[in-house]
Amino acid sequence: MENRVYNFAAGPSMLADDVLIRMKEELFNYKDTGMSVMEMSHRSKIYLKIFEETKDTLRRVMDIPEDYEILFMHGGATGQFAAIGLNILKGNKADYVITGNFSKKAAQEAAKYGEVHIAYDGKDNNYSHIPLQDELGLSPDARYVHICANNTIFGTEWKSFPDVKGKILIADMSSDILSKKVNVKDFGMIYAGAQKNMGIAGIAVVIIHKSLISEALADTPAVLSYELMQKNDSMYNTPATYPIYVLGKVLEWIEEIGGLEEMERRNRAKAAVLYDYLDSQAFYRPHAEKDSRSLMNVTFTTPDPELDVLFASEAAKQGLVNLKGHRLVGGLRASIYNAMPLAGAEKLVSFMRDFAKENDK
Ligand code: PMP
Repeated sequence: MENRVYNFAAGPSMLADDVLIRMKEELFNYKDTGMSVMEMSHRSKIYLKIFEETKDTLRRVMDIPEDYEILFMHGGATGQFAAIGLNILKGNKADYVITGNFSKKAAQEAAKYGEVHIAYDGKDNNYSHIPLQDELGLSPDARYVHICANNTIFGTEWKSFPDVKGKILIADMSSDILSKKVNVKDFGMIYAGAQKNMGIAGIAVVIIHKSLISEALADTPAVLSYELMQKNDSMYNTPATYPIYVLGKVLEWIEEIGGLEEMERRNRAKAAVLYDYLDSQAFYRPHAEKDSRSLMNVTFTTPDPELDVLFASEAAKQGLVNLKGHRLVGGLRASIYNAMPLAGAEKLVSFMRDFAKENDK
């Protein structure tokens, strides 16, 4: 693995070396078939084995009970913003908690298909805060409560999930799924775009309680219907075969290192390297409030937007790439998903120290 950089991109993002090595080994000739997984029919016996094993491994790694369906769908997490409206909201009312850009988009999309009540909106604190229970204005007649578990752009994350008073909880976990243990039973549905902790772009993974799957609104496109996807085991049409295979490789790697418990331990250690440094100095300013900090996306600014630009370009020269913050927040963002090794966070902090020394006037 020569000439590899530490890639702090928010997604698509780094893959673990062990995963890439296996993809490479199997690229030209998967298990003596004489072809790559990308060239196989999704109906072939060999591919169906990959498909089923990937689902089984996901069930094991996340401890997903049998009364939950696993669906691989098209359209990314954004497709799910609409699918939830079409399959679950269906003219009813739902509560949406707005903690960033993606939860806002989820609410806007769902509002096309029913009544969306905003139970909280963090715009006044520029989404630096995850609401406490008493800040949520939940409605008694909501069919479900929707949250975004980790806010990729702003760098905030729910530490514990809200008490939704017996309602169905739906979470967009695009940027923190597989980073730690979660109790799937606490959710009616969990969904994620795969291009961060689950591999590469091309699938949305949906983990949904079977009782929530029923006939979608009449005009629902077939590829967004949970009922059709369930009936056809996510093969109503050609699924994104290679991203599903990569997810399988990522899950194998997670199991080998010790599962989500070990993954979480590593992620906490990595994030602590960055946050401990940020808390020990005055040059950089972290964006997220302490209690709301994300383990996956660390957001901060230097004293001057021009220095932010210089920081990102100087860091890149040292093999620390994609540190520019999202255009909505500015500043800098280090995305330290599962695949980022501790050494990457340590090298970044070392660079930060040097940069602060040189530019603190
Ligand atoms: N939700 C979150 C938390 C995200 O980070 C993203 C993408 N970065 C999305 C939703 C949108 O995902 P997609 O691009 O797969 O539609």
